[in-house]
Amino acid sequence: MITDIAVERVEFRCPDSHWQSMVDYDVVLYLDADGDTWEFFSVDGVPTPSPYTIDGARFCPVCHRAVPGKPVARRFIPVPPGDDRTPRQAVSDPENHRAERHDLPLLSGAPEEP
Ligand SMILES: [Zn+2]
Repeated sequence: MITDIAVERVEFRCPDSHWQSMVDYDVVLYLDADGDTWEFFSVDGVPTPSPYTIDGARFCPVCHRAVPGKPVARRFIPVPPGDDRTPRQAVSDPENHRAERHDLPLLSGAPEEP
């Protein structure tokens, strides 16, 4: 069961001030069948390790140090159906509903490379 959905803007900054970068991560918190809580990160729809750990750190292009991220902003997304089940819109034909959404360009959370 999903308990929390958000976009988190994460800053990576080399401690020697060589480099910095911002990336928007999609973050989902969920409870598994055993009642354990898990955090699931992705960038541009691709699952990724937590940016706050060494496994998900980015590398400074100058000194090649692994730099874990720090959260600098967060946008909460309510988990449906919400307390009073509104606002919501019934979808009678899920496959063709707003079909143009499948062809929209990626709203990237990753920085543009120079
Ligand atoms: Zn560096």
